[in-house]
Order: sequence, then C-alpha cells, then structure tokens
Amino acid sequence: MGPILTLLDMGKTVLVTGGSGYIASWIVKYLLEEGHNVHATVRSLQSEEKVAHLKGLENLPGKLSLFEADLLKDGSFDEAMKGCEIVIHTASPFFIKGLKDAQKQLIDPALQGTRNVLNTANRCSDVKRVVLTSSVAAIMGDNVDALQKSNQTMDESDWNRSSSLKHQPYSYSKTVAEEEAWKIAKAQNRWQLVVINPAFVMGPSLSRRMDGTSVQFMHDLVGGPLKSGVPDLTFGIVDVRDVARAHVLAAFKADASGRHLLCADTKTFVELANILKERYGKTLPLPRGQLPTFMVYLIGPLFGLSWDFLKKNLGVRYKLDNSRSIQDLGIVYHPIADTLCDHVEQMKEAGIIG
Ligand code: NAP
Repeated sequence: MGPILTLLDMGKTVLVTGGSGYIASWIVKYLLEEGHNVHATVRSLQSEEKVAHLKGLENLPGKLSLFEADLLKDGSFDEAMKGCEIVIHTASPFFIKGLKDAQKQLIDPALQGTRNVLNTANRCSDVKRVVLTSSVAAIMGDNVDALQKSNQTMDESDWNRSSSLKHQPYSYSKTVAEEEAWKIAKAQNRWQLVVINPAFVMGPSLSRRMDGTSVQFMHDLVGGPLKSGVPDLTFGIVDVRDVARAHVLAAFKADASGRHLLCADTKTFVELANILKERYGKTLPLPRGQLPTFMVYLIGPLFGLSWDFLKKNLGVRYKLDNSRSIQDLGIVYHPIADTLCDHVEQMKEAGIIG
C-alpha cells in the first residue's frame, strides 16, 4: 500500500498503549514516518530488550516520547495521554500457552485496562478518537461458531458468545474488553471509538522479542518443533503491516467508524507450511504434513489443547469477511506468501532461526 499522508492531518499527538508490542511497534513506526508525535507506553523503561527497537526510530520525522504505564494501575496513563487527540489502545496480554490463572493473567488486564485507558480519555479533554485493538476473537470463539452462518463466513455483526473464563479465556478477554469499550464510548459524546478486529497476525517483527504469541507461532512453524506434523486447524491470517496501517487509517480517516475485521485469507496449518515449503523446503525443518486426528486427540492435551477445544475446532473450515476493511479503510492486503516469507527473512536476519 502506498503512503497515506494525503489522508492525514500532519503533526498530531497520538498515544499508543503497549507501544513496544509486536503490532504496536509498527503503528508507532508508521505514525512517526507520517510526522506525528507519538507518546508510547511500556511497562518498564528499564527493559532494554523491549524498548531498544523503539529508540532506533528516533531519526524519523515525528517525535517519540516513552512513558511507563500499567493496565492494572489506575491513573497510570494520565501523564502519557496529556495533549493527545488520538489514543490507540493496543496493550492487552496475548498468550495462550502456560496459563495458570486466566482471570489474573488475561481478563483483569484486558477488562480493567480498557476501563483504565478509556476513563483517562474521559478525563482528558484533548482526546477526539480512540482506536481499540480488539480481535477476531471478539467475533468468534470456536471454529464451529461459523457453522451457524451462511457460507460459514463471519463478519463484524457477529460477537463471540462461546468463550468463557474456562474455555478459550484469551478470546473471552478480548470480547469482554471490546464490549466494555463500546459501553464507555456510548456513555459520552466527546470522543469516537473505532475498533480493529485482526485475525491471527503474522509478518516481520521490528524487534527481537520472542515473548509474543505471533512470533512464537512462526518460530514453532519454521524452527523444528512442529516438524512431525500439524493438526487440521484453520486460521485467518493477516500481515502485521496491514494491521498497523489499519490502525493509522482508523485513527485519521474522518468517516471511520465501528468494527473492522482484518483478514487476508483463511488457511489451514498445512497450507501455511506448504506455502513456506516452496521457498524453504530444503533449508528449514518445516512440518511434514497433517497429523491424523486420533494422534491430535492423544497428544493435544500435552500442548494445552483440550478435547473440548479440539472437538469444536479440528477440521472445521470457515471464512472471514474482510470487505468492510477494504471499502471503508482502503486496506490492500499483503499476499500471505509475502507475509510468511518476510517474517522468515526477518527471523533469519535477527539470528532467531538458522
Ligand atoms: P504483544 O507483542 O505481546 O503485545 C502485547 C502488549 O500488551 C505489550 O506491549 C505488553 O507490554 C502489553 N501489556 C500486557 N500486559 C500489560 C499490562 N498489565 N500493562 C501494560 N501493558 C501490558 O502482542 P501483539 O500481538 O502485538 O498484541 C497487541 C494487541 O493486539 C493485543 O491487544 C492483542 O490482543 C491484539 N491482537 C493480536 C493478534 C495477533 O495475532 N498477534 C490478533 C488479534 C488481536 P510489554 O511490552 O510491557 O510486555
């Protein structure tokens, strides 16, 4: 996609929460390239691994200022939001593996964090628009949800009603957080809420961080852990650069409103592996093929995939309707092959894979 400068007012001050995250770092970069001043929050400025790549963006036209803020500390975003017309709220924990207490680790930061950031926006008279990073997970929980829809295609009119604290808690955290955001937005009329609902995000990272779910997924796919085979699961895939562009467009396009489902296409695990095999089949330990269903039921629980999850997701195909993101925001999606290969190249350059 070409530059979006013509659509934008120059030199606004924009708050990006969770500014050192995988998606947020690209948002920060694009805003700085367009000449905006960015206030980015991170949990700890001492964490060099998390902020080094942001400090590397200092030669771009816009000015970057870093602030410390925690979703669970009331008032934590007050300082960073001062003077901001636009708030892009991306910060929210995204992890699925190794969860011990879903309430504490996922739901509280997502829900209380959204309340915290939006209540600060209510107190901060400069704020005109809030862009929330929600997820496709707030639209659908299990793949079987799509069986209720014509053509098995989900869109922005759908809400995830199948997830809970016990079943797919990450998806539940995104659903309750987005619902709360709409509730807070509708109770006032100074600022407007625009929501971005990305499918699973892949593509090159601006940092060497490996703690994010997207980068870990890519590492597992190409680094060997899945070389014996992959389950018959379908994913909606979208490029991280398209997701970041969508946030910037949602922030500045005067007529942007409502929810925006972002997805280049849906692919099975094996289809993703096969795309990569065309280029890296001889050099990377890619998955050999699809695992038989009985084996997935046998070993799934060892990888945190419950039988209930497998029953509602394995082998179920669905589609995601991206037409609103194309018509209203003007998104031109990267082909999935470019997304995957650019991600592999970035990981190779960073020395993360061989
Ligand atoms: P990420 O790199 O793990 O980013 C998550 C961000 O949330 C980090 O910046 C992290 O801060 C911040 N955060 C977590 N807990 C926090 C807390 N208690 N206080 C303050 N900040 C906190 O993951 P990502 O993939 O970029 O995700 C960003 C957003 O996109 C999330 O809202 C996620 O739900 C959403 N999303 C992601 C995908 C995907 O496939 N990646 C798809 C749809 C939606 P630190 O930097 O301090 O760790």
